[in-house]
Amino acid sequence: MKITLSLIKADIGSVGGHTKPSEKLLNTVLNHVRQKSKQLLIDYKVFYTGDDIAILMSHKHGVENKRIHKLAWDAFILGTKVAKSQGLYGAGQDILKDSFSGNVKGMGPAVAEIEFKERENETILVFTMDKTEPGAFNLPFYFAFADPMWCPGLMLAPPIMKGFTYEIIDTEYLKSEKTIRLNAPEDLYDIACLLRETRRYVIKSIWSREYPTEQAVAVSITRLKHIAGRYVGKDDPVAIVRAQKIFPATEEVGGCFRLAHYVGGDTRGSHNQPLMPVKFKSPASVHYCIPIVQGMGISIKNGVMTEHVDLFDEPFWDYVRERASIKSIMMRDQGFVEPSMVPRDELEYGGIVERLAKLEKKFKK
Ligand SMILES: [Mg+2]
Repeated sequence: MKITLSLIKADIGSVGGHTKPSEKLLNTVLNHVRQKSKQLLIDYKVFYTGDDIAILMSHKHGVENKRIHKLAWDAFILGTKVAKSQGLYGAGQDILKDSFSGNVKGMGPAVAEIEFKERENETILVFTMDKTEPGAFNLPFYFAFADPMWCPGLMLAPPIMKGFTYEIIDTEYLKSEKTIRLNAPEDLYDIACLLRETRRYVIKSIWSREYPTEQAVAVSITRLKHIAGRYVGKDDPVAIVRAQKIFPATEEVGGCFRLAHYVGGDTRGSHNQPLMPVKFKSPASVHYCIPIVQGMGISIKNGVMTEHVDLFDEPFWDYVRERASIKSIMMRDQGFVEPSMVPRDELEYGGIVERLAKLEKKFKK
């Protein structure tokens, strides 16, 4: 049976600044999804990561299905009304268009979707990030699907020894969707050359080479800046990963987040800070909104999802969080000086740029 998983998320308002959605807002979104699920969905989960609400849906309607996207869009519109009525911060922030046009792509919400023939033991990992950008997935997914130092299965497990195909998008051309497909391990250096530039080149999907129709990964690739033409908040990407057997094991994917690597994001989307793996129901941090990633593991049978395992809620990750805190403070101690603050063309508030333009005129020979 072919199942589609659609993961659609948006920031439509949060309590007391950029923290987390209110209970009333969450319940509004959940109730709408529950109500509409009867005709359209097999199963669903509604949860949040920092200030973003995510809707995970299993169904049989394929990717980019109009009715599925409209379900999520309508839930976010209803939620936005509640957010406004409660005076929540950033109410409707990711709702960038006035009316639904058949697909939430390019309208603000982030979307990751994957269609597959369900395996006997289908293992799904869902990663949701807040206060960062889609390129934040580049390094962990390079490690997990191309580097045997991080994913020993690439040497040990015959079904994944052939490696994986990376589909990478150039986000400068988001509307025309320019992508390239490169194979690991043969094209490893080409892949590395692209993935190092996290603000431009982003992994869109990863595919098995042993079983070329089997998709391992789907990442949301929204660039809100391109849609709105102005700063509207960080993209806060999400990803769906299939694990085990013909893919890396759950721990070979999850382990790649232990580096807490530096990513763009944080307060005002203008700093480089470590990506901290957090437990479920963690609000965004008031230590400058450090970028966060949340992970859930689920099993699926006939599209029905089990309860989730909170991937970063066990003692090992407390140490990683401590390490991420130290890395965060070390970089933060550098204040506004690069690379602590991102370069001028990535600044998402106009203040510095305007100030520099004024100063430009005062320079003399
Ligand atoms: Mg957010």
